[in-house]
Amino acid sequence: MATPLYSSGSSKKHVVSPGAAAASASPSPSPSSVVTPLLSPAVAKVQKPDGSELLKPPVSTTQPPPEDLLAQLPVALPEPIAVDTTVQATAQPRAEAVPRPAARPLSDAGEYAASAEERKFLCLLDDGTLLVAEGHDMNPFVLSYCARLERLNYRYSTRLASLDTVRRSYQGKRRDGTGERVDHTQMQVVAKNLIARACTERASDIHIRVNRFSTEILFRIHNELTRISEQTREYGERLLATLYSAMASVSDNTYKPNERQDASIGDRDKLPERLFGVRIATAPTSLGSVMVMRLLYNDAGETIALEDLGFTARQAEMIELLKQQPHGMNIISGPTGSGKSTTLQRVLASQIRDMAGSIHVITVEDPVEYPITGAVQTPVVNANSEEARSTAFSAAIANAMRLDPDTIMIGEMRDRASAQSALRASMTGHQVWTTVHANSAIAIADRLTDLGLPLSMVTDETLITGLISQRLVKLLCQHCSQPFADVMHTLDPALVGRVKRAVGARFDQVRVAGSGCPHCGHGTVGRTVVAEVIRTDTTFSELLREGRKNAAHEYWLREMGGQTVAQHAVEKVAAGLVDPRMAERVVGPLPPASDAERGLFVAGGEGHGG
Ligand SMILES: [Zn+2]
Repeated sequence: MATPLYSSGSSKKHVVSPGAAAASASPSPSPSSVVTPLLSPAVAKVQKPDGSELLKPPVSTTQPPPEDLLAQLPVALPEPIAVDTTVQATAQPRAEAVPRPAARPLSDAGEYAASAEERKFLCLLDDGTLLVAEGHDMNPFVLSYCARLERLNYRYSTRLASLDTVRRSYQGKRRDGTGERVDHTQMQVVAKNLIARACTERASDIHIRVNRFSTEILFRIHNELTRISEQTREYGERLLATLYSAMASVSDNTYKPNERQDASIGDRDKLPERLFGVRIATAPTSLGSVMVMRLLYNDAGETIALEDLGFTARQAEMIELLKQQPHGMNIISGPTGSGKSTTLQRVLASQIRDMAGSIHVITVEDPVEYPITGAVQTPVVNANSEEARSTAFSAAIANAMRLDPDTIMIGEMRDRASAQSALRASMTGHQVWTTVHANSAIAIADRLTDLGLPLSMVTDETLITGLISQRLVKLLCQHCSQPFADVMHTLDPALVGRVKRAVGARFDQVRVAGSGCPHCGHGTVGRTVVAEVIRTDTTFSELLREGRKNAAHEYWLREMGGQTVAQHAVEKVAAGLVDPRMAERVVGPLPPASDAERGLFVAGGEGHGG
């Protein structure tokens, strides 16, 4: 069954006959705002597929007094609600006809089943009557259901009714005999589809905000919150109750909107293949309540493999070895927005998981950027001046060391004081992970001496164990990217030449961004890491200590099997994953392939020129 979240739009309009509209004289709001809150103007504000919003005027802006509400209660209820008879005695004539008792809903199950959201606005009866909630005849849910009936060649006549009448027409025994419980089951389908969709879009979190009159659903994708849909408040309340009570495994499964609650979904058959769990946190808000669901991916989220961030298998293996060393400082460099924090988070989270929580990881951050499950994260209190910040930061590191950590993560070494504190932590037998601003992995050593650390210590391979540099490049959408060869006649010949020299025989696989498609929007889907990782050794450190930086660089590339950020980018260009122009914007001109690879190009690359 399609979830109403994604089937909200239809360009087809089903016109309700004026006679049918006249048949129900006055709007009939819900008899009890406790049971069914009056649907608000926000009900009809629904996201269309093209992203625009369909705005509809409110159904009714004034609520009749309670007596009138009671007066409108149909008498022949399948499940009668206790009504004070003295009030009912003074009741005015009913505003609308109750559906024939014999008529039973067709839209609750089977061929003509409406979605949970559609059922709120309409009910198809087995006498061919389609009850449509007054004021909702142009509602996208109603329109799409009508379009479906037309496709099925089902002849029906529309009659406007109150929202409450529509709701009541579903009450009582269902044709399948399961009764009200089906509602819950159907909301579970909605919940499952919502999680599945978030998973497909690689969202890290789902936010459900139940506001006074509406419910907003948002996904966090690539760390940005994106609004997915707007629903009624009632829809949100039911969704939250279903998620908490029927899907989560928690000892007391009573959902209490007015309390903070935590739960998790771990049941395999309730989750998509790619998730191993969903963590749920709820809280009351000034307008209603909020639920945030953190999706725990088998291969991503906090447990994502470094390869999935874009590191090569070899780089991931080296970082794995750095993680396993009992002490030493590992430093990640790169400009702001190069994904350093994400790498740090993944490294520490996986370390905590690998050790089954038996290690104590403390972070000192200004501010805390990402939550790391199992780590003790300490934000540095904001200070007014740069000097006060520096002092506070160093004090926080010193304090962290007294808290008996195994691993310390220091957000950034930005001055002499924090660099010295980090080095001291490494010298006292801790594993330290931190970041610094430097242009390459090898340049980190220069930066550390600039920050005032003694060269002898910077080039001690037992103190400084790992040097990493990284950038992020945009990843091409595999659905709409185009072969580079098809468009190269329109490109700068110098670029074409560089690409040929860089990728050699793999020239045919190079692709460029297309103009966008339903899978991506703009031709790219997220970003991927291009990196260089150096695990320092005696010779490498010795060459640096002697000031022979070029020799150290050569040694790293030739003897240690190193790969530079630019070479890593070329690999991704050659594999058709990254547009060469986008790669050059991040890493500079693509370097030519090594001699061996160029030989391959000459041998196999004839005929590719043009
Ligand atoms: Zn695309």
